[in-house]
Amino acid sequence: MSRVGVIGAGYVGLTTAAGLAHLGHDVTCADVDVEKLAALSRGQIPILEEGLPELVAEGLHSGRLSFVLGAGAAARGAEFVFLCVPTPEEEDGSADLSCVEAAVAEIAPNLEPGAVVVAKSTMPPGSSRLVAQLLERTGAPARGIGVASNPEFLREGTAVFDFLHPDRIVIGCDETEVAVRVSALYRGVQAPVIVTDCASAEMIKYASNAFLATKVSFVNAIATLCEAFDADVREVTLGMGYDPRIGFDFLRPGPGYGGSCLPKDTAALIRAAEAAGYDFSLLRGVAEVNAVQVERIVGKVRSAAAASGRDLLGTRVGVLGLTFKANTDDLRDSPALAVVARLLEEGAVVAAYDPAAGERAPAALAARLPDRREIVLAEAPVLAGSRPDPDVEAPPEPHPGVASPRLSIAADPYDACREAAVVAVLTEWDEFRWLDFDRVKVLMAAPAVVDARNLLDPAALRRRGFHYQGVGR
Ligand code: NAD
Repeated sequence: MSRVGVIGAGYVGLTTAAGLAHLGHDVTCADVDVEKLAALSRGQIPILEEGLPELVAEGLHSGRLSFVLGAGAAARGAEFVFLCVPTPEEEDGSADLSCVEAAVAEIAPNLEPGAVVVAKSTMPPGSSRLVAQLLERTGAPARGIGVASNPEFLREGTAVFDFLHPDRIVIGCDETEVAVRVSALYRGVQAPVIVTDCASAEMIKYASNAFLATKVSFVNAIATLCEAFDADVREVTLGMGYDPRIGFDFLRPGPGYGGSCLPKDTAALIRAAEAAGYDFSLLRGVAEVNAVQVERIVGKVRSAAAASGRDLLGTRVGVLGLTFKANTDDLRDSPALAVVARLLEEGAVVAAYDPAAGERAPAALAARLPDRREIVLAEAPVLAGSRPDPDVEAPPEPHPGVASPRLSIAADPYDACREAAVVAVLTEWDEFRWLDFDRVKVLMAAPAVVDARNLLDPAALRRRGFHYQGVGR
């Protein structure tokens, strides 16, 4: 069993650390966030991820998992150091590697002779060479420090399962002996292991995410055509998906792809291609279709409001779901937030409910809204029909002449629907499927539903008198 340092205790780092401890390794996981570390050391998990609390508790209990402040501390004494720090999108779309560079600078003086630095953060092809160069400046090669790329393919919501049951393990390394050492860390995991060079490993990750994004945009474009030709995209994708060359995964239309990976990774690949002198017009088209999809959903909400003679200005819209997909609390690049931001811009009054991320949504939305307009957060009890608490400061009045975005976070899905002229289902949380739509109809000002995830039964809703719009059906 090996001594492992993991740098970054986020979705990937925490899952990697707890997963490797479960496989029997001694893992020290570092972060820079003191509060997060304190909570983790108490066994409290700051993210929603099925099975992760149990896996972390198991690691803490066995003594094989511990948390420390700062990357240097995790590198000391480690045979392997996994980099799991963010690689966000720069303004020009390229990958921002500053966190990787900072982490490497911190670990370099602390690396043991013969240690291997394993890049799990998603980095453009060629980036492992950058890590090697940064290490070279600190004299690492003389100490026999190795570098490998080991991209991560886990999906948020099923991260623990995916880490322990991956479809494949990809190890990029220019030294076979080092690649074999890295692959031995995964002993006990049943999966094909692909050992290749660093650039190919990095390209596998980008190509995979770009392909998935392409599938999503493709099916969204087909859904648009289905609407034009009166076809039903659900039937169409059923007929397509049985072809094993196509498959069913990622063949569901919706508000577009989002989350912390697909948007930034496609943007980074487009930029990397540009830098290499290739115009990746196919992928640019994929990103364009994705941006348009948000507008298409906003258009559906607009036309649903029009069905009861309203425009969006001042109209109450109930929003169900804010995370980028169900079963995660991650709001990063969520298409649901993009839709809500556009609705607020058009003057709609939005009451939103999300089972996992409602509290954090106003801050995430404020960052998205252009210009000086702030979000005026209404107190949820006002919507619920109860009296405002006299001790709670009232939300500020909108500035005269300036449309102020109005958002409230509802305590449950029914509160989000109360007095709404349109309800938009933006995330496919299972609980929305089982709502009592008779009750929803009574609560609403006008019965109109935009089902951006094709989650609901259109016939059942229409029978109840709802104006229903899905995507591509
Ligand atoms: P995250 O934001 O959830 O976590 C990153 C963590 O790293 C944060 O807790 C941050 O405080 C910490 N950190 C930053 N700099 C540090 C430093 N110098 N020392 C110690 N800790 C530091 O990010 P994530 O979603 O886990 O993504 C990490 C990487 O993995 C990214 O490159 C991402 O593209 C890739 N990835 C993510 C997923 C996913 O589903 N989230 C899947 C596959 C790959």
